[in-house]
Amino acid sequence: MASSSELHSELMNQMIHQLEDFALFLIDKNGIIISWNDGAENVTGYTRDDVLGRNASALIGDFSANQETIEGSINEAIQKEVAHHVGWRVHKTKGLFWADIKITPLKHDDGSILGYSILAKDITEGKNQATKNEELIQKLHAKNKELEEFTYMISHDLQEPLRTIRSFIGILDSKYKDQLNEKVVTITSTISRASERMNGLLLDLLDHSRIGRNKEKPLINLNDLCENVRSDLNSLITRSQASISCPSPLPDVEANQSDMQMLFQNLVSNAIKFTKPENHPEIEILFEDKKEHYQFCVSDKGIGIAENQQERIFIIFQRLHGREEIEGSGIGLAHCKKIVELHNGKIWVESVPNEGSQFYFTLPKSATSE
Ligand code: ADP
Repeated sequence: MASSSELHSELMNQMIHQLEDFALFLIDKNGIIISWNDGAENVTGYTRDDVLGRNASALIGDFSANQETIEGSINEAIQKEVAHHVGWRVHKTKGLFWADIKITPLKHDDGSILGYSILAKDITEGKNQATKNEELIQKLHAKNKELEEFTYMISHDLQEPLRTIRSFIGILDSKYKDQLNEKVVTITSTISRASERMNGLLLDLLDHSRIGRNKEKPLINLNDLCENVRSDLNSLITRSQASISCPSPLPDVEANQSDMQMLFQNLVSNAIKFTKPENHPEIEILFEDKKEHYQFCVSDKGIGIAENQQERIFIIFQRLHGREEIEGSGIGLAHCKKIVELHNGKIWVESVPNEGSQFYFTLPKSATSE
């Protein structure tokens, strides 16, 4: 009959072998692998036949993604009593995984080294989740900050005094007009125009801060949406004799309907607006099915944009022309950027002055991807 200590060690052996999620293996003091549990097979993909009797350095060479050596880890374990490493490792067949590894020296009673135990766990899931959480938190912080700034500026700093100015100008105009000389009338009407313009800017900002509030992203048909854009811009299209073509049918996307309408409408109306005076606007709406996402392009043969201005135009109220020259407030592309980014896409422009511009943007194939 087995003694209780033999039974104990037999049970321990069985338990260690059957641990499924933890790789646990032993190497002797020369680095030869002498024990390999089921978990080690699961975690690394190597079977007992692959590894038993082999020097661990050969295995670690295959296994480590960072050229770590077993000799280095052993030396560290001797010095620190335990070496703890977290990093990428290579599974025999499944590629990289993020591993937590501890190497502990096993000693005789007199302190001389008997061998080493190596305990490893695949913690890729936790690592991926932590990375995702971190990215999400950063996005939330950025968006919150943006929203706070807008709300503060609009509700406290700007709207209230503007209302006062506009109402006093109104009083001057209605009650005291007869008493004002020509010079003062000119001044008050200038103030009135400026405050109207400021009111317009504030409304633009309000629109901008509202983008993304409606989070619904149903499957929408972009061909129908482009038809809506065409009909909304009908008078501009007719006046400018613009041609808008869509050479291949656009896909359905999971996106917010009104955001998409605003995006296409801003890009198309800009393509019409910024045409060369002597030409009729020729616009194409193009689409490519990239592997990971859809890529769209609104292309024109208009006045183009100098390379050093191509980033600036996506910033709020940045314009390259005076209002007297070409009407607009400079918020359209900032709206577009916000919409595309809220849909996890990217937007950029490629352009050659006097030849035309291509505004590209991407949208994920499904609202939950990318
Ligand atoms: P707005 O059209 O009101 O000026 P946007 O934010 O839509 O505001 O555009 C910012 C600036 O980018 C425009 O003033 C113009 O200088 C430039 N721009 C936008 N679209 C085009 C285009 N298709 N071709 C040339 N320039 C453009």
